[in-house]
Amino acid sequence: MTRTLAALPGAARRLCLSRRNGEICTREDGHRGLHHRTGGRLLWNDLQADPPECAAAGTPVDPAPVLDDGFPGHRALCPVCWAFVPRDGDGRLEPHDSWRGDESRYEADRRREWFNAYGW
Ligand SMILES: [Zn+2]
Ligand SMILES: [Zn+2]
Repeated sequence: MTRTLAALPGAARRLCLSRRNGEICTREDGHRGLHHRTGGRLLWNDLQADPPECAAAGTPVDPAPVLDDGFPGHRALCPVCWAFVPRDGDGRLEPHDSWRGDESRYEADRRREWFNAYGW
């Protein structure tokens, strides 16, 4: 997955975002046929897609820096799927589903803001 894509949360809400081995599908949400990332070589189907659970659970991470309004709270940025994820008492990522677009307009806007401020 490219860092560029991680920094495009608003646009990503309209994308399929099925994942496979680090690739992420950039076809439109609900598309027919195989999954594919624009510019990528890998094609995959639903059976080959990664399970929704992110493999990074349990990874030690630092909390993400916060914006003026406190976003993203006490969460950390997952180094694998780029979701903002709560940390457990030992500073490790809690189990979570891989990021597949933001749940709300607010979250999408703040996420974009965050990547503008702290992203790459
Ligand atoms: Zn797809
Ligand atoms: Zn993750």
